[in-house]
Amino acid sequence: MATPRPTAAGLSYVPNNPNSPWQMYLQQVDRVAPYLGHLARWVETLKHCKRVLAVDIPINRDDGTVAHFEGFRAQHNLSRGPGKGGVRYHPDVTIDEVMALSAWMTVKNAAVNLPYGGAKGGIRVDPKTLTRPELERLTRRYTSEIGLIIGPDKDIPAPDVNTDAQIMAWMMDTYSMNVGATATGVVTGKPIALGGSLGRREATGRGVYITARETAHGMKMPIEGARVVVQGFGNVGGVAAQLFHEAGAKVVGVQDVSGSAMNEAGIDVNAARDYVAKGGSLIEFKGVTAISESDFWALKSDIFVPAALENQLTAERARHLSTRLVVEGANGPTTPAADDVLHDRGILVVPDVIANAGGVTVSYFEWVQDFSSFFWTEAEINSRLERIMVDALKAVVHTAEEHKVSLRTAAFIIACSRVLAAREQRGLYP
Ligand code: GLU
Repeated sequence: MATPRPTAAGLSYVPNNPNSPWQMYLQQVDRVAPYLGHLARWVETLKHCKRVLAVDIPINRDDGTVAHFEGFRAQHNLSRGPGKGGVRYHPDVTIDEVMALSAWMTVKNAAVNLPYGGAKGGIRVDPKTLTRPELERLTRRYTSEIGLIIGPDKDIPAPDVNTDAQIMAWMMDTYSMNVGATATGVVTGKPIALGGSLGRREATGRGVYITARETAHGMKMPIEGARVVVQGFGNVGGVAAQLFHEAGAKVVGVQDVSGSAMNEAGIDVNAARDYVAKGGSLIEFKGVTAISESDFWALKSDIFVPAALENQLTAERARHLSTRLVVEGANGPTTPAADDVLHDRGILVVPDVIANAGGVTVSYFEWVQDFSSFFWTEAEINSRLERIMVDALKAVVHTAEEHKVSLRTAAFIIACSRVLAAREQRGLYP
């Protein structure tokens, strides 16, 4: 990602950089516009965020000094319901990135037909440089600052890159203390004891696996014995890799922040995840050989899962990628130029807005369970998740065939039509 330039206000913003996530998103919208029929008249709606809040987050460091961090919450569109989307803690977070991620949430939530708009938040911080008490203070102050615009019926945050159930517990507690009532429905991805949902932690990775399995089936490619390469070994990539492994696929390559690793015979994913969970470094795990970044992108596979950050699968990498199917676990991993290269090379891409929608789908289940204070079994959750993902993917494949467009454009056609129909029916105020 390009180095963000501070604006006059001192905020990190990437204006008009063609590779910025927001510019990538705008190009995706341009591709869908010709297919929107009479709703095309509203397409500009999609090119603007309804509301973006930038906040200063001062915290006391353990050493007695005060540090300031930049935080954001963007609400891209609320036509179909309250805002919904995660919060990420990462040193590369910018307004531009958060805006794009909030827009992808609008599309994702509409693509799987959840009654939500799209939102996203982030703090520009490397959480590894903070102690646990500092991380708690950062989270609580951020939650208090964005408390103006979040709430169980306004905008519901959730985990994303480098945030987890503990951070959601602190967010829920801070919001609840400020409003004077326990509000479990203000965030999802909480610990089970605080109104969290069974299956939520694994849901994004499970959704990636389900969409990969269904698409592979349509391509007559058996999952058993398929060679799988996964970029990212966290909550999304790690869980997806495990499910592929359990289904008899061979996970031959994995990459995380420590580097890239391979095993021609297939990585023992469960053992590798245990090793990493105990603090080990993936590339030092006994069952793998460390390889270079360029060798990783050239690994031969049947299914490639980018499950790290945006902008990873560039046109250059797409020209060398040796795979049949790309299933996007991350948000925005493939640039529009890379989409074109993959299309020309006959490599099918299942886009993020469908492939990784499992997380927000189970977030929706969690929110519904919190409102009714009636909790479902893990089997019920997984079977409802399965049905929603399979049906949403089927509709996307059908639309792609009908209009002869990519699965990404098809998902955008379905989602943007739903968002803009709601926009039109509600009308403009005043
Ligand atoms: N951060 C996840 C995503 O990008 C989940 C969002 C949510 O559950 O609200 O889809």
